[in-house]
Amino acid sequence: MSKINQETWKRILSEIERDIGTNYDFWFGNVGYSIEQDDFVLKFPTEHQISFVEKRYSDNIENAIFNVTANKYNLKFEILEEDTVNTVEKDDINNIISRYTFDNFVVGKSNEFAHAAAFSVGESPGSLYNPLFIYGNSGLGKTHLMHAIGNYMLEEDPNLRPMYVSSEQFTNELVEALRKDTTPEFRKKYRNVDLLLVDDIQFLIGKEGIQEEFFHTFNVLYQNEKQIVVTSDKPPKELKGLETRIITRLGGGLIADIMTPDIETRIAILRNKNEQEGFGITDNIIDYIAENIDSNIRELEGALLKIVAYSNLTSREVDLDMAHHVLKDVLEQRKKIKIDSNRIKNFVSYQYGVSIEELESKKRPKNIAYPRQIAMYLCRDLTDLSLPKIGADFGGRDHTTVIHAVEKIETDIKKDPNLKNTINELRRKIKSN
Ligand code: ADP
Ligand code: MG
Repeated sequence: MSKINQETWKRILSEIERDIGTNYDFWFGNVGYSIEQDDFVLKFPTEHQISFVEKRYSDNIENAIFNVTANKYNLKFEILEEDTVNTVEKDDINNIISRYTFDNFVVGKSNEFAHAAAFSVGESPGSLYNPLFIYGNSGLGKTHLMHAIGNYMLEEDPNLRPMYVSSEQFTNELVEALRKDTTPEFRKKYRNVDLLLVDDIQFLIGKEGIQEEFFHTFNVLYQNEKQIVVTSDKPPKELKGLETRIITRLGGGLIADIMTPDIETRIAILRNKNEQEGFGITDNIIDYIAENIDSNIRELEGALLKIVAYSNLTSREVDLDMAHHVLKDVLEQRKKIKIDSNRIKNFVSYQYGVSIEELESKKRPKNIAYPRQIAMYLCRDLTDLSLPKIGADFGGRDHTTVIHAVEKIETDIKKDPNLKNTINELRRKIKSN
């Protein structure tokens, strides 16, 4: 049978995506293909992926191929070698991923504010809250919300132009444009839109040239009353290393945070997924997963999929024993992280924009001394290190200095909910991998 072109391949993939919904990225995010006579060979990076996809999605794939090509091929599966060329290409018109919608975003206490903000921006872009800045840790739904705004906008008016870009992609494209002398095209692409979604802006830290371009892109859009949405892992004023004028702009609209989901939200997300995908997992298993995986929704969904995959591969019903067995690896791995003063210094250094050397130095200005006290407090809290050892790890200080730091931070936490939040988040990051 004849070869197919990239366009046809993309249509087959969209057909599969439409059919299987939210799991698409997880299983097909890195699929490749080749055609050998009557064989349609799908290639995946791991054996595990192959056996699961073959078992669960063969029918969907065959249908998709038939719907698009009107040919019946024999389906084959192979390991994807590094240099295979025919991997997925993202649609680069607006980069909006259609399956991330408001409809399938579960709202709970931890994300209701960000969700409400995103929704009202979707309803009246460019007017109320511009820019909208959403921040929170990884895997909590920031990217999902961004795409949801884009999809909502397109649904309301297909003539509008949303554009999603990660900060990395923005960087790469600009570098490429400078190299090829195509900056005007680059500018046209990002300045001629109704909605610009810029994901993970913290990647622009330390990249001055890119920041400069972003600043101008921002201004043009803003002046034309076009909506801008930006995400990051921290609030604007904590993005040390980003130009002040950008921080000011980013903080000039509405700032919304997403926090780690509480147990009710985690259960609701798993139930929703379970129902959507028809996995048929029982509530006691869902509760078990939700109780054990508490910091990241990506991991939460991953755990559910892993259990389903395991059950499919072994043809066994899912029960608590199996869930326990499958999640053991995930949970063990977490326990293995070694928390020592270096790990704590790393996180505190990043959080407060001071260097490790400064944390270990004798310097006393507040912007260094305070993060140092926080780091000592966290060492006391999260490790078994003795007071003298902690003192030694912070530039050979006396143990009374450590006691003083611990007491000071304890008192401050009681008075300042923001500080309490920051330290809780730090503690969580230090403990998770
Ligand atoms: P982030 O961008 O904050 O790192 P993502 O938006 O990529 O996180 O979310 C990670 C995964 O969790 C995605 O598959 C997303 O669809 C899912 N997810 C996150 N929050 C929710 C939610 N509230 N309801 C349903 N799915 C969610
Ligand atoms: Mg993201």
